Amino acid sequence: MLFKRLRDLYNENEVLAKEYPLDEYFPLLQNFIAKEVSLGAEYLSPYRFALSYSKSPKEAIRFFLGLTDSEHIIKQQFKYECDRCGKINIIKDEESLFNFKCRECGFEDNLTSSPDYLSEVKLLFRINEELLEEVKKNLKDNPLSNVLQSSSAVLERGIDEEVSLESAEELIYKDGKPIGKRSMELQRKIRRYRDIMYRG
Ligand SMILES: [Zn+2]
Repeated sequence: MLFKRLRDLYNENEVLAKEYPLDEYFPLLQNFIAKEVSLGAEYLSPYRFALSYSKSPKEAIRFFLGLTDSEHIIKQQFKYECDRCGKINIIKDEESLFNFKCRECGFEDNLTSSPDYLSEVKLLFRINEELLEEVKKNLKDNPLSNVLQSSSAVLERGIDEEVSLESAEELIYKDGKPIGKRSMELQRKIRRYRDIMYRG
């Protein structure tokens, strides 16, 4: 159940609870996930969320960063196109992000050898597997109305749906407060790698 997962997360993450009140954001998120899954999505785009509910993209990205604190809702992944062979690699954890090795050609890339590396990485928000199955089952039992589906089809047209790691990084802190532990930890690691790069 999304509600229980969200409530558990909100009990642990005060910043998220304060900036994105559960009363307002639970229905939005529930509606959004149902809509996106009905279109076949396994990943969620904060830009599409922003557009659907008239939020600013920055607000939406920060909200999603906060959600990644709970892997029961959203799992953070990364996407990177190999510099050598062009293969799109989905990177599942931070360890593999910082020590990239292409699944197709074996090319290794990292921050110390290529300063541009991180600016080309996109951040992905993957719906938790169990939650995804649950939503799919619900949709089978209660399909969304045509009205809802056609309004989301409008969103399909050419908006930039991907979040770069760099733009996300700028949104982790607001008024000195990090939106979540996971993002805070990610930023700490990115900074450490940058330090190594500049020193080298
Ligand atoms: Zn490659």
